[in-house]
Amino acid sequence: MTHLINPDKEQKPKALDRGFLHCLANLYETYGPLGWWPADTDWEMMAGAILTQNTAWTNVEMALTNLKEAAGASRFTAGWLLEQNPEEIKAWIRPSGFFNQKTPRLFALAHWFVSHGEDTQRLHSMPLDDLRSELLAIKGVGPETCDSIVLYAAQKPVFLIDAYTRRLLLRLGYEVPRGYESLRANLEQLVKDERPYEDSEVNLGTSSELCWLQEAHALIVEHCKNNCRKKPLCSNCSSLSCQARI
Ligand code: SF4
Repeated sequence: MTHLINPDKEQKPKALDRGFLHCLANLYETYGPLGWWPADTDWEMMAGAILTQNTAWTNVEMALTNLKEAAGASRFTAGWLLEQNPEEIKAWIRPSGFFNQKTPRLFALAHWFVSHGEDTQRLHSMPLDDLRSELLAIKGVGPETCDSIVLYAAQKPVFLIDAYTRRLLLRLGYEVPRGYESLRANLEQLVKDERPYEDSEVNLGTSSELCWLQEAHALIVEHCKNNCRKKPLCSNCSSLSCQARI
């Protein structure tokens, strides 16, 4: 669990408010536009969502490069992956770590994607709850991996939450429910109420709700990797209202 890092400034946690949108707008000034997810194809995005579990993105890039080189002219697709020997897949994704767990997860996700014709347009057409239920039923796909795929491959608007999101919200002094779905509901309610993509002060360079949500997640990750680390580099940070500033 992330604790506030400046106990002298610790206050009672507050409900999510517009201040969080201004924080994101400040991050956009610093890092944006990021235009995530970094992938050449939707399947590469989806495979990356599995490979990035519990590892740094640089390791994922090495694993994806191995897979794409192995696929060569056949192109790295879900269908191609299903024709491969799992032992070879393990060797190719070894740089991403946990390759014994991630290999069957990749196969399970590939089976599911092939069952939908490897067509993200079909995923986009599904009701959000149905799409999330199907993804969450795949072994090894938890809420974060699920919503990565929903947001960036299926292009459906969800607020994607990861450990960085929780860390930033806590440090900004917000209440952070323990459960993923509760926090997602709170963040999505804020977006629904405030419609930040229609507000030039906080629109993160887009008038699209989907693109706003895609950029918001990318900005949080970028900020927490660069500055709001476990031991934060607050002197580089524009979040003046942060009560955890040291
Ligand atoms: S880096 Fe910014 S957001 Fe993170 S603790 Fe420091 S002031 Fe707060």
